[in-house]
Amino acid sequence: MRLASRMHRLGTETAFAASARARALEATGRDVIHLEIGEPDFDTPANIRAAAERAIADGWTHYGPALGLPVLREAIAVDAARRKGFPVSVDQVVVTPGAKPIMFYAIMALCEEGDEVIYPDPGFPIYESMARFVGATGVPVPIRQEHGFRMDPDDVAAAVSPRTRMIVFNSPANPTGGVMPREDLERIAALAVEHDLAVLADEIYGRIVYEGEHVSIASLPGMAERTIVLDGFSKTYAMTGWRLGYAIVPEGLIDAFNGLVINSVSCTSSFSQIAAAEALTGPQDAVDAMIGEFRVRRDLIVDGLNAIPGISCLRPQGAFYVFPDVSGTGLTGEQLADRVLYDGGVAVLAGTAFGQVGRDHVRISYANSQAKIAAALERIRAVVAPIPA
Ligand code: PLP
Repeated sequence: MRLASRMHRLGTETAFAASARARALEATGRDVIHLEIGEPDFDTPANIRAAAERAIADGWTHYGPALGLPVLREAIAVDAARRKGFPVSVDQVVVTPGAKPIMFYAIMALCEEGDEVIYPDPGFPIYESMARFVGATGVPVPIRQEHGFRMDPDDVAAAVSPRTRMIVFNSPANPTGGVMPREDLERIAALAVEHDLAVLADEIYGRIVYEGEHVSIASLPGMAERTIVLDGFSKTYAMTGWRLGYAIVPEGLIDAFNGLVINSVSCTSSFSQIAAAEALTGPQDAVDAMIGEFRVRRDLIVDGLNAIPGISCLRPQGAFYVFPDVSGTGLTGEQLADRVLYDGGVAVLAGTAFGQVGRDHVRISYANSQAKIAAALERIRAVVAPIPA
């Protein structure tokens, strides 16, 4: 069958393929430690699971409004206003099946042929994929270890052209764990205002910050009316499989989002939404405990990697990934990822899964137990140590 030409412009998230490769190896009987997966290893907290069970028993099994159930939209508006520091009306909230569709909707609604979309490299691969899919051009901005894995406002300024329509960024970031400081966000906000640009702010890891603060760019002057905030439940509440995300959009965009939701998925699962309302309004101690555990693991993996010759790893301030430079081993990230999988039984992702700037890096997720991380570090060391520098 002949595919529509736009399909040749669609990218993908190679993390899923890498995960499949690791599982195929496992199926042959090899023991594999999974550090390639971008999801918390914890169970969804018990109060949230119980709320979903009650919701099913109570009949929350039908279609709901496209933009989300009022009870959840209200809870999101209250929570987001408090945590993100700007007034959020319930009429600005869109609930989606996972946060990923928000990338699709925002870029589809605002960008067209000839427009340019500035995105981070390395970064979540779907930003560029969606920009290309709609006929726009992705303009990468390099995210460098030397700059603490922050998006440098000077690089953003250099990337802006008369065709720029949108700036996409992600803080805390996947795959680097970098967190944007307020000063840098202020400079990016100033560029967005000066050039009348839309901003897609991916704040899905906004609660997972170890040092410093998470600042929402939408809280800066002039930004709420031009920013689409992407957030969700997958990472904060260990709910990846529930498919629950949300956007906060300027009021003028809500009809466009409503139309896109109706045309694509109709609505998000009703009982999942009831559980999500419990996630936001119920006790937060399970979230605090997860973040505390992630911090311990971060230190374990950063110290362990830096003790391996040829690997240099920054201590990230957020999310649950590290993005070490492995060039000192004489291998590219891709070569190292292959070696540690096939010779060591540790699955990680090549940095190039997130863009060309990641060539000398691998992404390692520390969403796994301390014991598994310690064992993985031993295996990586055993594979890397004999490689002549
Ligand atoms: N944004 C970033 C940066 C992510 O890493 C992910 C998931 O890996 C998402 C968005 C999508 O999250 P969801 O599972 O809610 O669709």
